Amino acid sequence: ERVAGSVRSVPEGVSPARAVYAVASGKGGVGKSSVAANLAVAWATEGKRVGLIDADVWGYSVPQLFGIHRAPTAMNQRMLPVPAHGVGLMSLGFFVAENEPVVWRGPMLHKALSQFVTDVAWDDLDVLVLDLPPGTGDVTLSVLELLPDAALLAVTTPQPAARSVASRVGAMARSVSMPVAGVIENMTELVCADCSARTPVFGSGGGTQLAAELGCPLVGQIPLDIQLREAGDAGVPVVLSHPDSPSARALRQTAAAV
Ligand code: ADP
Repeated sequence: ERVAGSVRSVPEGVSPARAVYAVASGKGGVGKSSVAANLAVAWATEGKRVGLIDADVWGYSVPQLFGIHRAPTAMNQRMLPVPAHGVGLMSLGFFVAENEPVVWRGPMLHKALSQFVTDVAWDDLDVLVLDLPPGTGDVTLSVLELLPDAALLAVTTPQPAARSVASRVGAMARSVSMPVAGVIENMTELVCADCSARTPVFGSGGGTQLAAELGCPLVGQIPLDIQLREAGDAGVPVVLSHPDSPSARALRQTAAAV
């Protein structure tokens, strides 16, 4: 039942990091994982010790975003985070063959996630980033139970429909007394590479409105940027691969503002 051998646990409820940020969204496809990965890398480039737990168990994308597909090793009976681009990673994707569906039920997933928190050698982290599944399901609640110190970062696009599903995530955070550290608006506008014209492909205002609704700051607005998508496909987050791109600049500013 365990995801890796027989490992020793640290007590539940002991936080593995000084700051824990849970990156959430109302629905899939808004760029939650891309934002989580790039914030983690941006903090690491500032010299922080950063871990990233991929809790998006059905739609995990951290292995792809970091270009890593191998099972973690163990030392002193604890799993070691998989190092990539300055960040320590843990993902269910490391334990599942590519193209194989995750068919585990809730209790198994809870167990795996609790091992990612307590049975991994997250020694002395400054920041632990969680890439939550979209929405307000079971897994999200499990993770928040395991990491009661987590603060929410809600990712939305500017579109009203995205904002309204994201506001349910904010309501969920409130219902479990979780602080909301900020809203990040992704895909804010498309900047033309030739003429610098800005096109609000997904409308505008969603991030500002969501932040007002949740009573938290809008900590970032990330433009639509082909380099961000290409970097994710290539397994090197854009803040490293194209540090001067519009999205990388915005992501660094966001990391500084959180
Ligand atoms: P989620 O975690 O919300 O499902 P992902 O981070 O997987 O979203 O992003 C979905 C797709 O959109 C990916 O192909 C990703 O590369 C792309 N994407 C996300 N944000 C941007 C952006 N700002 N500009 C361009 N492509 C983006």
